[in-house]
Amino acid sequence: MNTYDILIVGGGIIGSSIAFELSQRNLRVAVLDRQEFMREASWAAAGMLSPAPDCPAAIPLVPLGRASLALYAGFVAGIEEASSMRTGYCAGGAIETLCHGDAERELSTLVALHHGLGLACEPLPLDDALEMEPALGREVRAAALLPDEATVNTRRLTAALLAAAENAGVALMPGVEATALVRDGDRCTGVKTSVGKTFSAAHVVFAAGCWTGQIPEVASYAPTVPVRGQMAALIHGGKPIRRVLRSERGYIVPRDGANPQMVVVGSTLERAGYEKGVTSGGMEKILSAVNELVPELAGAEIVETWSGLRPGTPDQLPILGPTDINGLLIATGHYRNGILLAPATAKLIAEWITERRISSNWEEFSPLRFARETTDRSAGAS
Ligand SMILES: Cc1cc2nc3c(=O)[nH]c(=O)nc-3n(C[C@H](O)[C@H](O)[C@H](O)COP(=O)(O)OP(=O)(O)OC[C@H]3O[C@@H](n4cnc5c(N)ncnc54)[C@H](O)[C@@H]3O)c2cc1C
Repeated sequence: MNTYDILIVGGGIIGSSIAFELSQRNLRVAVLDRQEFMREASWAAAGMLSPAPDCPAAIPLVPLGRASLALYAGFVAGIEEASSMRTGYCAGGAIETLCHGDAERELSTLVALHHGLGLACEPLPLDDALEMEPALGREVRAAALLPDEATVNTRRLTAALLAAAENAGVALMPGVEATALVRDGDRCTGVKTSVGKTFSAAHVVFAAGCWTGQIPEVASYAPTVPVRGQMAALIHGGKPIRRVLRSERGYIVPRDGANPQMVVVGSTLERAGYEKGVTSGGMEKILSAVNELVPELAGAEIVETWSGLRPGTPDQLPILGPTDINGLLIATGHYRNGILLAPATAKLIAEWITERRISSNWEEFSPLRFARETTDRSAGAS
């Protein structure tokens, strides 16, 4: 029987987190993915849990990011308990460094911006920064400590989340691609799929990452675009790196405290269509940035390189919540923050489905903002 209370399209961190959250509310939940689960952006991510905005467009996202970070310890505890697996969650903080220009003035601006947004951020004298992170290079001219930031090992988290969802009774269906909506008047009642079966549900949630915008009838609510990011994993035997180190040009995320230690480094922001791939230019950009930050990494072994496609949106904000087709919801467009935003997204979508009540301000993320634009454009053209 292919009938469920909730049907989720897309088995990345967003779809799977929503499924796990809803399974705790005694609902029959199924997740479809056109390939193996967790093989796209969620697998590729560095795993920084940072609500700090990386550009002015990301400022409206800060309250949701802070709310999600506050949920994280409970989110991973629930997953670890249900899966008996570890997620590598570490609330160790991050150090933001400034290596160029008028670093002292930029540091004051950075600290003031963070405080204005309610984010903890302390200027860090360079001697203190070097004591905390002896591997930092001498090119660093100013630094700030972001004590509330955390990291998670995305490969472990995604594996544990899938096991937790399955143990909680979620039906996981790899190799099933959603190809179209099934509608009954103004209601969405399910999806048609590539395997010839139709799946029915009271609520259908599209969480298909950067591909959400490729699905007919869903595209007008979720005009997602892929934004490629390249990454590398390095093993080094130098001074241990204890927390996330970031500069204007790149970042280093420790994966363990072992010696030799594994770190992951990134990343690029590229409009390369749906082409994944690692390029010499991309690696050069990342490695020159991290070697400036921690010169000892120049001797590290590159053990893996990869890339992933972030789900970008026209206004760089996520697309969350119900559409004006009854029973159809969207949860995508998390761009650079989907790992951070998974707990808040799952809570918000589950609240909407089960209580028709939302405990946070989601309207600026509504899928209707794009559908209205499409309608306005067609009205203007006619
Ligand atoms: C290099 C890189 C570094 C990043 N670092 C961080 C970070 O440090 N912190 C952070 O918070 N975020 C980070 N991100 C962003 C984060 O990875 C994404 O925002 C997040 O993974 C998006 O999750 P998702 O579930 O929406 O999409 P995905 O993980 O891409 O999953 C979408 C799924 O939908 C499936 N699908 C697509 N179409 C269909 C269909 N028609 N039918 C069925 N299934 C379908 C796909 O196969 C896929 O499995 C990073 C991303 C990249 C690429």
